[in-house]
Amino acid sequence: MEIISVNPRGYCLGVIGAIELAKKTIKQNPNTKISMLGMIVHNRYVVEYFTKQGVICLDDSKKTRLELLDEIEEGIVIITAHGASDEVFKKATKKGLIIVDATCPDVKITHQITREHVKDGDVIYIGKRNHPEAEGTVGISNRVHLVSSIEDIQQLPPLDNILITNQTTLSIVDIKPLIEECLKQFPNAKVTEEICKATRIRQEAITKLEDVDVLFVVGDPHSNNSNQLCTIGKSHGIKDAYLIEGAWQIQEDMIKNKNRIAVTSGSSTPTLLTNSVIEYLENYAKTNQFIPAKTIETLTF
Ligand code: SF4
Repeated sequence: MEIISVNPRGYCLGVIGAIELAKKTIKQNPNTKISMLGMIVHNRYVVEYFTKQGVICLDDSKKTRLELLDEIEEGIVIITAHGASDEVFKKATKKGLIIVDATCPDVKITHQITREHVKDGDVIYIGKRNHPEAEGTVGISNRVHLVSSIEDIQQLPPLDNILITNQTTLSIVDIKPLIEECLKQFPNAKVTEEICKATRIRQEAITKLEDVDVLFVVGDPHSNNSNQLCTIGKSHGIKDAYLIEGAWQIQEDMIKNKNRIAVTSGSSTPTLLTNSVIEYLENYAKTNQFIPAKTIETLTF
C-alpha cells in the first residue's frame, strides 16, 4: 500500500494570519473580555483552543453575524477570517466594541471589488447560502445578488451593468457551469473569478492525482474548502473520497486491500491532525493490522 501526501495541503496564509492575530490579541489584552463572531476558522479544534484561552466563541448557524453581535456588550470582538459586512463593523463600533479584524486579505479584495462595482451596477455573487463569507459580501449592498444554483440564476430579476464574482473557497469545477449560466442570461456581464490561490492550488493538486483508490480529506464538516476538496476528488474519478476530522474516523473497509491512498487537508485544518492521519495510514501499510485510532480530544498550536 502506498500513502501519497498531497501537496500543497493544510493551512493557508489567511488562516495562519487569523490564528496569529487572535493569539496576539489574547496575549496583549489579558484583562479584557474577548469574543469571536463565529468560528475563527472552520475547524472545531482551533475554536476549542481559543475557548480554552478564555475567548467567547459565538456560533449559531441560525443567526447572522449581525444578530450574533447582540450577544456582545463589551470588550473586543474578533472578526473571523471569513470577514463580515459593513453593517457588522458599523454596529460593533456603535456598541463601543474594540474591533480586531482577522478577515483574510483575499476576502477583503472580493469585498473591495464588490463595493466599487455596486456604486453603478449590480453584482451577481456565486456563493453558499448561510456561509459567513457570503453573508459578509452580500451585506455590502442590496445590489449584490447571491446565487448558489442554476435555478437561483434563472430567477434573478432584470439587472444592470453586471459583475459576476464569487466566494473565495468554491470549487473550480462547480463554479464553471454557474458562470456559464449567468453569461447565458446576461451576455454583457463582466466576470471576476475570485477563487483564492490557496483554494485553487489545493484543488488542482487533487486533479493531478493518478490511479488513486482512496482520498482522505482531513477537515471539519463546516469547512467549505475541505468539502470542496472531497467533491473535486469524486469528480476526478476517486469514488472513495472521504472527509474525516481525524484518523479515528478511518474504518477498516475504507482502506483494506487498497493500493494507493492519498491524503490532503482543507486550509483550516491543523497540520497535527493531517500528520496523524498520514502516520496512521503508514503504520497500517507496514503492519497490515487494523487498530482503530484514538480520538484526539484537544490540540495545542
Ligand atoms: S482559504 Fe483562501 S480566502 Fe480562505 S482564509 Fe485561506 S487564503 Fe483566505
